[in-house]
Amino acid sequence: MDFVFTPPAIPAVPISGCETLFPVHRIYCVGRNYSDHVKEMGGDPKKEPPVFFSKPASAIVTDNQNIPYPQATNDLHHEVELVIALSSGGKNILLESAEDCVFGYAVGIDFTRRDLQAIAKSNGRPWDVAKGFDDSAPISAIKPVSECSLNASTEISLEVNGAVRQQATLGEMIWSIPEIICALSKFYELKAGDLIYTGTPAGVAAVGAGDSLQASLQGVAELKFELS
Ligand code: MN
Repeated sequence: MDFVFTPPAIPAVPISGCETLFPVHRIYCVGRNYSDHVKEMGGDPKKEPPVFFSKPASAIVTDNQNIPYPQATNDLHHEVELVIALSSGGKNILLESAEDCVFGYAVGIDFTRRDLQAIAKSNGRPWDVAKGFDDSAPISAIKPVSECSLNASTEISLEVNGAVRQQATLGEMIWSIPEIICALSKFYELKAGDLIYTGTPAGVAAVGAGDSLQASLQGVAELKFELS
């Protein structure tokens, strides 16, 4: 087929220990999935069901590339998150079979223009400009599920300029990995290539040009880059 211009490259994520790439279909994100973060944002963790939003697939940044400080914000926040990478999907996926869809796991950052999000929230507007901007979804290499041993005590953390800003265990997630896949598939037909950013623990804060960020999912993935 001929296109009117050269189509953009397919966004793709490296796979650890493998030369082939993971092609990204969509990026879904979960809001409010750790109690302490829900509280720091002024919510009640027990009252609210999972909140979903999305980012364009082109928002990923791979290979520890440095990221320019984004336009249109003076309050860029880091949100370190476990990322689920899917190799299959479907609608209304059963809880028992949800983990069969998982290709692997990574660590990523859901960058948020918090000032624009605050305006959107107070006016009942969509979150797109706060969440779905260019370079807003840096991600580590994906580790295949057969090589991961995630459990409730697995640590997720983020350091900025060598100081710990966010640190939690996966046991603190309000919604588990299968519960997230199951709930999301009630709204969308999930597909191979989907990434799900699963929400951030407490400790979100601003970062600026010149800051160095290092995210870690214990035993699974590391991500390190600078804002320029
Ligand atoms: Mn988030």
